[in-house]
Amino acid sequence: MKFRELGHTGLRVSAVALGCEGFMQKAAAEVKADLDHAIGLGINFIDIYSSNPELRTNIGAALDGRRERFVIQGHLCTAWENGQYLRTRDVQKTLRSFDEQLRQLRTDYLDVGMIHYVDSEADFRTVFDGEIIRIAQRLRVEGRIRHIGLSSHNPVVARMAVETGLIEVLMFSVNPCYDLQPPDEEVEKLWADESYAHTLHNLDPARERLYELCESMGVGIDVMKAYGGGDLLSADNSPFGRAMTPVQCLEYALTRPAVAAVMVGCRSCAEIDAAVAWCDASAAERDYASVMTGLEKFSWQGHCMYCGHCAPCTAGIDVAAVNKFYNLTVAQGEVPETVREHYRALAHHASECVACGGCQTRCPFGVKIVDAMRRAAERFGY
Ligand code: SF4
Ligand code: SF4
Repeated sequence: MKFRELGHTGLRVSAVALGCEGFMQKAAAEVKADLDHAIGLGINFIDIYSSNPELRTNIGAALDGRRERFVIQGHLCTAWENGQYLRTRDVQKTLRSFDEQLRQLRTDYLDVGMIHYVDSEADFRTVFDGEIIRIAQRLRVEGRIRHIGLSSHNPVVARMAVETGLIEVLMFSVNPCYDLQPPDEEVEKLWADESYAHTLHNLDPARERLYELCESMGVGIDVMKAYGGGDLLSADNSPFGRAMTPVQCLEYALTRPAVAAVMVGCRSCAEIDAAVAWCDASAAERDYASVMTGLEKFSWQGHCMYCGHCAPCTAGIDVAAVNKFYNLTVAQGEVPETVREHYRALAHHASECVACGGCQTRCPFGVKIVDAMRRAAERFGY
């Protein structure tokens, strides 16, 4: 397993992590068997968004006696009413469901307490101008949640939340299809046929700015929907008309700035294995560029996707890293100290580029790398 820092929380989490969808409808013994398997592979990070009491109870039983081996991400504002999951901003329901959650999970704290599913600006104001954020802060002071997070599908709203400086972790939907789409409060539009009917160009700037803001502020992203709900794995269902592998989807998400982990909703040990295969996959197996560059109606030209195909550089420069750090400074409008430090730590710097052009012939996305190195050298001073 590969482990990564979750932003500035101090938590070290497995890059391949577990969503809880796969545990729905399973008996306690099956949940325990799946978790045993996951632990055996090094997975230590789990998201439990669902308020289903049976599910939480089964997971709690499976974690019993080994809770400290897990970083648990639970959610605030999900309740269980009339046998159904409910998203709520009601204070009493939120508090009651939180207490139940800890009891069902057999723990007295969550490592990350996610404010659940904030996609509209109106809801953002309800949460941040009202009681919900204060509840989250109070629970943190009490030690019942260690870090405050927020989940969203909308990059504009997620950015507003990150800019408050009050959240430390963002759960966000990241995959190459969503990344093409402009922000919208209706999550269904991310997958609607009409959203893919016209030619789409490159990463949506609002999404890119969000990832870069999180990186510069030390807000760790954990990813949901890396497989697009499974549709990206099927040529028939994917808007790309071409299937990606789990490893390619994971590689794409894990190479976005600030992303620490992908929550994969595995339904079986075999699906856990397919996700964990990312850890030992070869560069060719991880290569998502091959899927994306040949697609009709999608143009990624001129935009660095951090795929690493340009390597090796004659001068030893890690071109993808230089581009990532440069883009961070553009997003910030300045060179933040942390980015300057990361850049300084590179073995070779952009100013060492001898303009041989070898990398450009290998870049599948048509990035003008010589120009990019010159701009980066000017920005960082070397
Ligand atoms: S410059 Fe091109 S090949 Fe290199 S990381 Fe960026 S997109 Fe990939
Ligand atoms: S053009 Fe510059 S960055 Fe590209 S391979 Fe040559 S030296 Fe390296």
